[in-house]
Amino acid sequence: FNVPKAVNEPVKEYAPGSPEREQLLATYKEMFNSNIDVPMHINGEEVRTGNTKNITPPHDHQHVVGQYHTADKTHVDSAISTALAARQAWSRVSWTERATIFLKAAELLAGPYRARMNAATMIGQSKNVHQAEIDAACETIDFLRFNVQYMIDIFKDQPASSPGIWNRVEYRPLEGFVYAISPFNFTAIAANLPASAAMMGNVVVWKPSDHQAYSAQVIVDLFKEAGLPDGVINVVYGDPVMISDTVLASRDFSGLHFTGSTHVFKNLWQQIGNNIHNYKTYPRIVGETGGKDFIWVHNSSNPIQVATAIVRGTFEYQGQKCSAASRSYIPASLWEEVKKHVIAQTKDIKMGSPEDTNNFVNAVIHEASFDKIASFIDAAKTDADVEIIVGGNHDKSIGYFIEPTVIVAKSPTYATMTTELFGPVMTVFVYEDAAWEASLKLVDESTEYGLTGAIFSNDRYIVEKASEALENAAGNFYINDKPTGAVVGQQPFGGARASGTNDKAGSAQNLLRWTSARLIKETF
Ligand code: GLU
Repeated sequence: FNVPKAVNEPVKEYAPGSPEREQLLATYKEMFNSNIDVPMHINGEEVRTGNTKNITPPHDHQHVVGQYHTADKTHVDSAISTALAARQAWSRVSWTERATIFLKAAELLAGPYRARMNAATMIGQSKNVHQAEIDAACETIDFLRFNVQYMIDIFKDQPASSPGIWNRVEYRPLEGFVYAISPFNFTAIAANLPASAAMMGNVVVWKPSDHQAYSAQVIVDLFKEAGLPDGVINVVYGDPVMISDTVLASRDFSGLHFTGSTHVFKNLWQQIGNNIHNYKTYPRIVGETGGKDFIWVHNSSNPIQVATAIVRGTFEYQGQKCSAASRSYIPASLWEEVKKHVIAQTKDIKMGSPEDTNNFVNAVIHEASFDKIASFIDAAKTDADVEIIVGGNHDKSIGYFIEPTVIVAKSPTYATMTTELFGPVMTVFVYEDAAWEASLKLVDESTEYGLTGAIFSNDRYIVEKASEALENAAGNFYINDKPTGAVVGQQPFGGARASGTNDKAGSAQNLLRWTSARLIKETF
């Protein structure tokens, strides 16, 4: 069980004038004008149906960078049968060989694939260079390296034996195939959902988000070059309802690895429940879903630290992280100071296309998302009970740009305090200092979610009390830090309540879900 010790991939700075920055921007330019044609991938073959949709950068939606091909039911059926055929060989490939493929993928991504993966993410998902680097490059590499180590940790977990008896556990893949549904917002999550199941010997039908097709294509190329056999991960795009209906109707469906909205996940779960008598095995269901992530502040904290956490935790990647902060609870005595710094820092933020590396905020993913966020901001503008203290503008003429916006609400249950917007909007509720315990109750009870949250205090007693009061309110709980930016190998990530099954991404616990253990007792 000797594997290279996993280390986090160092984040490159892309400083002005550095070779990596020049290379990345040149790659961006070339890929922006490439007219890419993204096929589906079934049995290692590129499938072009002619039923295409355009790939357009969210920050320049009239510019077509290419198209991707979409499936009809026959393609989904063939992705399933191909996966099952590939399972014969893949499930018997030794773990060392599987590890080798994914470790090689990590090194290819650290080197020759890095600029392409980052540029595809910048173009297709509107991430600035730093957000692309920490996601598409570093986090993807980290998932691959650390998961190999976690796989070994699982294999090492063996029962006791005695003279004349050898008890051992074989961690076999699931009997059937895994269905991976990934979101647009993290290229690393998109790569990890199919890869972690495949690493454990499973075969996969993968439906990436249509809005991530460009970087999904780079992921497919990466795994192919690293030596992943044909048919192990099969990629389909298109109508999510048709694809899921087809996949979940298969008797061999044996697991769902999902990141996306709470609503979709609950529907899929229900559908799986309705089909339960048809399946050969009880399917594994693993999901990371929505959030309404909080920042709770006590008057014993540092207002500048709080303001920075609000700005970074809310506005990085336009608030399109499941972990992004979107509601804050701040004591009245600290508010004026926090407010001053939040306004000053937010006004400094530059917004625009990601190829201009000064732009901290880029466009939100698509028109429906823009319209939803804009409608909540516009409603706030005319509501006497709320005040927009900074931001509030939006413009979709060229790209889907929403100005970083901070709203102050008189009611802790105001719409933007409780609804997940998935955009660059923070809503603040100011509470009376003496009512700090009641405000913790508000944090805990105002939403159905439990993904991430942060508390700020320099008083140990308060930290303990808040941690206890919020023990189920966040699967990832941060003390004196913003609630985003979990690093693989350091902060395994996942939420509870309506935010997911809490099988942390980047953990042995997650990989274990993709195994079906066989205990063997052999007597000599
Ligand atoms: N792991 C990411 C973070 O800690 C969030 C993942 C997500 O948005 O689903 O910020």
